[in-house]
Amino acid sequence: MSAISEANHPSSIYDEWDALLAPEEAGLVRKAQAFCDSELIPFAEHAHRTGNALPRELVQSWAALGLQGLQTPRELGGQGASYLAKIRVVQVLARSAFAAAFSLNNSHSMVHMIATQASAELRERYLGDLLSGKLVACIALTERGGGSDLAAMKTTAKKVSGGWILNGEKAWITNATISDLAVVGAQTAAGTKGIGRFLVPLQGRGAERLGAHPLDAGSASGVGALRFSDTFVPEDHLLERPGEGFKRSMSAINGARVHVAAMATACLERALEVAVSYGQRRAVFGEPLLEHQGLRWQLAEVANELEAANALVLRAARLINAGESAELPAAHAKKFATSRVVSGIERCMQSMGANALSREHGLHRQLAEIKMASYADGTTEILNERIGSHLVRRYP
Ligand SMILES: Cc1cc2nc3c(=O)[nH]c(=O)nc-3n(C[C@H](O)[C@H](O)[C@H](O)COP(=O)(O)OP(=O)(O)OC[C@H]3O[C@@H](n4cnc5c(N)ncnc54)[C@H](O)[C@@H]3O)c2cc1C
Repeated sequence: MSAISEANHPSSIYDEWDALLAPEEAGLVRKAQAFCDSELIPFAEHAHRTGNALPRELVQSWAALGLQGLQTPRELGGQGASYLAKIRVVQVLARSAFAAAFSLNNSHSMVHMIATQASAELRERYLGDLLSGKLVACIALTERGGGSDLAAMKTTAKKVSGGWILNGEKAWITNATISDLAVVGAQTAAGTKGIGRFLVPLQGRGAERLGAHPLDAGSASGVGALRFSDTFVPEDHLLERPGEGFKRSMSAINGARVHVAAMATACLERALEVAVSYGQRRAVFGEPLLEHQGLRWQLAEVANELEAANALVLRAARLINAGESAELPAAHAKKFATSRVVSGIERCMQSMGANALSREHGLHRQLAEIKMASYADGTTEILNERIGSHLVRRYP
């Protein structure tokens, strides 16, 4: 039985994951669990009522536990944990606080990106403060006019002496509310070949944080807009040269898709746990809810989909962890997990009657927040495109 699994019942969906972790990685997962229980869940409940975004202080508490550098190599001051360990950590967080977990996951992914992709000079300048949470970074690709078609982005980067001048506006950027640095995608020429990625300090002249998008749910993710008006970016802040920015965005996306799929699966797993526990305690017509075959079967269907989603996520995560190509497995995992979680949480809630809406369960909040998962890092339709494009290769 897993030492980590909070549910602590035999054959938890997390057992197979835990078996793949090194002992020190399991220790990090336990730290993340304690942080989630003491800080993240209370904040998520508060944010849901107030519409607040995740504050910098919470990133700093998380960073003080060494978790902001989860995947950052040890020699650069991080924990050097595997991709699988990172997934296990985000499952722990998302299980009860999807949007807040989304924000934290994004900020520690950005630390990993800068640690592994930036030049030694940029690392020297920023990495220490990113690891401590003194600085927060975000990735800014999407624009108001559309996010699925990256090549159509309108933000421009014009070459000038010593650097580049950026102009444009980005929308739906996770942690735009608190970020100090943004990895910005911009066109240096028309088409995918012209897209470069620039590390842009947001306190500099011409760079503005425009605040959070007002949301009905999921404000904890801190999604908002950024504007660049003749923003000068020095040459050494170019992260990927024109042409490489598009390719890099496409190759990094598989890892991100699997995070989101794992987070969705964890949300569903907790909803099922809550419903089954409630169904054993609540009696209707003289019998516990779960003794009624109709309800038991309803939850059995959810359990069946949960197992399938978890298996797809685990398969894709293992490939990514091994450095193998995972475009198709990642698309299958994200499409299935994010589409089943919405209906799955809803069915768990339906089995509980009106009490499902009680704040103590947090299920209604999770249901509202989890919709985000079907847009971020590739919409369901874009995943269909990926899966569809592989069909003719598989069945020539
Ligand atoms: C919570 C959250 C966090 C996010 N964080 C970030 C972030 O940190 N950084 C960032 O850059 N972006 C971020 N995004 C933006 C996200 O990447 C975009 O929402 C996504 O790429 C889709 O773009 P769009 O919402 O503009 O939809 P659009 O591209 O306008 O698409 C609208 C609809 O058309 C469908 N569609 C598009 N093309 C096709 C097609 N060829 N065939 C069939 N259907 C199609 C889409 O699936 C969608 O249903 C975030 C979004 C959310 C919700």
